[in-house]
Amino acid sequence: PATVAAAHEFVALLCRRLIEEEDHLTALDRAVGDGDLGTNLARGARSILSCGEELTAGNSLSGYFRDLSTTIRRGVGGTSGPLYSLLALGVAEGIGRAQEAPQLEDWGRGLDIGAALIRELGGAKIGDRTMVDALAPAVEALNGPAASHPEAVAAAARAARQGAESTGAIVAGLGRSSYLGQRALGHPDPGAIAIALLCETAATHLG
Ligand code: ADP
Ligand code: MG
Ligand code: MG
Repeated sequence: PATVAAAHEFVALLCRRLIEEEDHLTALDRAVGDGDLGTNLARGARSILSCGEELTAGNSLSGYFRDLSTTIRRGVGGTSGPLYSLLALGVAEGIGRAQEAPQLEDWGRGLDIGAALIRELGGAKIGDRTMVDALAPAVEALNGPAASHPEAVAAAARAARQGAESTGAIVAGLGRSSYLGQRALGHPDPGAIAIALLCETAATHLG
């Protein structure tokens, strides 16, 4: 998306997808966590959808993502809130460096900055059975050799889904599902599945 209006239209699409998936994500979090992921993300999505005017009016593209980060921090509960907020903040920084005319590589760099902030704040590495298991490979694929090609977005979605599915075979190291240990086996991490859904929605829209 090259304009604030297009960026918000894209973000709104992701929000509507999260609202559609509320029950599914909550069911996944009920199996291994406290059963609130769908509610947390859907509530945040609704707060973003209701703030469209404030977020977009007179805003620059990087300002939009900075304000989006604040809206997410206020509107999304649980562990997901601050982490998704950092992702938006990273995107704001990636775009800011591109001086408001971002190319695919600038979005990729922004998401890379955001993913690094998430790893820093949450302390999760790949294999700890968190959203990082989907996000890190997706960002890597987006920034890979095909980065200048739309195929990179599809590759990122595939990497996110593969990473998310792989968490079903991991005994958790961090987060609430770590309390379950072996019992989480066979259940994918809900936060990682949410990332895969978002990446797939993005790929469908941008591909
Ligand atoms: P809570 O566990 O506080 O209820 P949510 O339900 O909003 O939080 O989010 C749960 C998801 O957050 C998990 O499925 C996992 O993907 C992610 N998560 C948990 N801890 C971390 C962490 N330290 N770093 C990255 N992601 C994490
Ligand atoms: Mg939860
Ligand atoms: Mg919770």
